[in-house]
Amino acid sequence: MKYLVANWKMKLTIAESVDLARHAREWYEASAHPPFALIICPSPCAIPAVADALKGSTIGLGAQDVAEEERASLTGATSPLHLKELGVHTVIVGHSERRAKYGETDALVGKKAAMAIAAGLQAILCVGETEAERAAGQAEEVVRRQVRLALSQISSLPRTSALRHEDDNTPHALIAYEPVWTIGTGTPVTIADAHAQAAVIRDELRAVRQGEGAAVPLLYGGSVDQRNVASFTVDPLAGTLVGTASQTREGLQGLVEALKNVYH
Ligand code: PEP
Repeated sequence: MKYLVANWKMKLTIAESVDLARHAREWYEASAHPPFALIICPSPCAIPAVADALKGSTIGLGAQDVAEEERASLTGATSPLHLKELGVHTVIVGHSERRAKYGETDALVGKKAAMAIAAGLQAILCVGETEAERAAGQAEEVVRRQVRLALSQISSLPRTSALRHEDDNTPHALIAYEPVWTIGTGTPVTIADAHAQAAVIRDELRAVRQGEGAAVPLLYGGSVDQRNVASFTVDPLAGTLVGTASQTREGLQGLVEALKNVYH
């Protein structure tokens, strides 16, 4: 399975989100069997309206964050139960913006992923080094640590929350390699670097979760657009997590069409 995950961040109004979701549906559903899964992650208040616009569609609905508890005194947080009730299927956790601007630690990110999976959501765990960490030669060590610490929280879940659902084979966890220094810059990492870090992530996954770890799909994110999306959707990468280019009609249509052309 290939993936295109659109992260709309807080860039669109609710009305703009609905409009873009309706267009995405047209482009995506123009193919009887689109050759990749499209998952749209609107900002939290836009989720109900976008869910309505996507009703009956095969486009997946995602969220950009989730709380680490189901019910708790956590002012302003979003329960995974609420996301489920709204028809959300997937949730991004540990995005670098949340790590950097809201101080989310590896342990918290892991708890969020674990809670999301326990609630029946699919978690996309974002990992990736900063520019300074890369310059210091720590790129590999950073992603290994982020994967290991997040999975240590997920490991404590009961068997029913294994990384791959036994009934429908839907992965419960995906990992997006997002080098922080490429996000929103217009310049992605080289394919070779993306593949090298994917190999590091896979190695760490295997070390902590053996066979299960081998099956977790890996995505790339960081300045992906219609010109490069196909080249980042090649093994060992199962697809991309896209911010900027997914937030306009032209950009999102370009991404969808580029993948349709390659995987028709
Ligand atoms: C992101 O924020 O996850 C992202 C990949 O953004 P962009 O595509 O704009 O680099």
